[in-house]
Formats: sequence, C-alpha cells, structure tokens
Amino acid sequence: MQIARTIAEMKALRMKSFGSVGFVPTMGYLHDGHLALIKQARVENSVVVASIFVNPTQFGPTEDFKTYPRNTERDLAMLEKERTDIVFMPSAEEIYPEGFSSWVEVEKITDRLEESCRPGHFRGVATVVTKLFNIVEPTCAYFGQKDAQQALVIKKMAADLNMNLEVIVAPTARESDGLAMSSRNIYLNPQERQAATVLFKSLTIAQNLWEKSDRNAERIRQEMTSFISKEPLAKIEYVSIADAETLEELTEIDKPALASLAVRFGKTRLIDNVLLG
Ligand code: AMP
Repeated sequence: MQIARTIAEMKALRMKSFGSVGFVPTMGYLHDGHLALIKQARVENSVVVASIFVNPTQFGPTEDFKTYPRNTERDLAMLEKERTDIVFMPSAEEIYPEGFSSWVEVEKITDRLEESCRPGHFRGVATVVTKLFNIVEPTCAYFGQKDAQQALVIKKMAADLNMNLEVIVAPTARESDGLAMSSRNIYLNPQERQAATVLFKSLTIAQNLWEKSDRNAERIRQEMTSFISKEPLAKIEYVSIADAETLEELTEIDKPALASLAVRFGKTRLIDNVLLG
C-alpha cells in the first residue's frame, strides 16, 4: 500500500496505475461501513484508492471540525488489510491554498434536509469531491447510502458536469441493533448510544407501514416523530418522507420515496434513512 501525502505524489501514482481505478473518499476514523465500500471497490477494480481528508469547508462554524475523530495509524492498518493500493491523505493547506476561490454548487436537491440544518455543507462536499476526482481520476467512485442526500448530490454533479466516472452507491452498514455505523457514534455516551436505536426503529416503522400499503406520507412522518419523541435524549431536527430522486416532501407516496431523519443526542447529530419502494 502506498501513501500519497501531496497532490503531486497522488498524480504520480495515478500515472503508473493500469486498468480501472476504484476510489473511496472518506474523512477517516474508519468503520465497517467504509470497509464495505473498499471491499466492493476491491472486487470491481484493478486499483483501489482511498482518501482520508477531514474537509474543513463542509463543516459549519459551530460544527465538530476540530473534534472530528481522527486515528490515522488505525485507519492505515485497516486499509492495508483490505488490500487498498493507494491512500491519499492531503493537507488542508494544499487542498485550499491561500486565494482559493472556486466552488461547485449543486442546486435544488441541496435546498432541503441536510442543507436546511447545515447551510453550505454541500457546497463544501461538492467542491472537495470534484477536486479529489480531478486528482485521483477514478473510473468508479463509491459512496454510502447512509448519506443519501450526499450520494444524490454527487450523482447529479457527476452527470450535470459530464464527469468521466461512474458513481456507485452501496447499502448502509449497521450495528447488530440497527444503528447505522458512523464515525460520530464514538461521541455517544452509553445512555445516548442506547437511545440512538430509536432511529432505525422509527425507520422500520415507516418501512412496515409502507409494506402494509400505507401511502399517507404525513401519517408515516407523524408515527415516526411520535415514536422518536418518546425518547427523552432524542432531539429531532427533521423527519422526512420525500421523493427519492428530487427530495421534495411527499403528501402521497406515489413514487419511490426516501424516509430520512436527523436527530441529536446531546452534542451528537446522527442521520439515517431507508428507501420505500
Ligand atoms: P465519511 O468518512 O463519514 O465522510 O464517509 C465516507 C463514505 O463512507 C461516504 O460515502 C459515506 O456515505 C460512507 N459511509 C459512512 N457510513 C456508512 C455506513 N454506515 N454504511 C455505508 N456507507 C457509509
């Protein structure tokens, strides 16, 4: 496994890579959800590149950029075990040099859900992912369904801007009690960790209602909201039943829908989702 710490080193390694290149961008502090993406990239490509970069521009001023969990040594050992070929770990100074002034903005699907709670988040994500794509030049790039809106934004951006790669979205990896794996789960104290199981349970309620042919989106949102509200440690930011493509809120579920939510447990903000249909 080779480690590129500068853009020049990454580009030099890319020049020497043959066949398809599968790319998994991450912010590190890896878990089995990240490793599932690496495993899929390993099966489907000649060369696997992972990046570890905690991107400052996708964090708001009051968010957890400074305290975001980091453990490079452990991450590198995990990536090596999965037979990753190249790890790209640039510095923020090189990605955003003084005078940096070009941004990628994806409109409409970024108007709601995550963006309403984290203004500017997707501008940071779209910009850094574009830069990473330009540097790594992957054949395929792998993203997790866990961050459903992010996956849609990247797909839209790649299509709208004719990016020469395939965006692949892999299923959400979960703990045995259903909690979606996330680097941020480490922030939860034992009570909050237990309380956080309401997220997947409420999504399962949505799924069950949908499977019983309930197509009333407002009723499903209410059922989810009232279930989560019974947990005193949970503070809801949003509960959404939206068009799975445009993310517009639905009244009637007459097309594939995304049930998604963002909930705070103490200082920790968690998101999760399931597809209906
Ligand atoms: P992050 O390091 O949180 O930016 O995540 C890097 C990539 O891993 C993103 O494409 C995420 O959507 C994906 N990812 C994070 N958690 C999970 C999970 N539990 N299951 C599947 N993919 C995930």
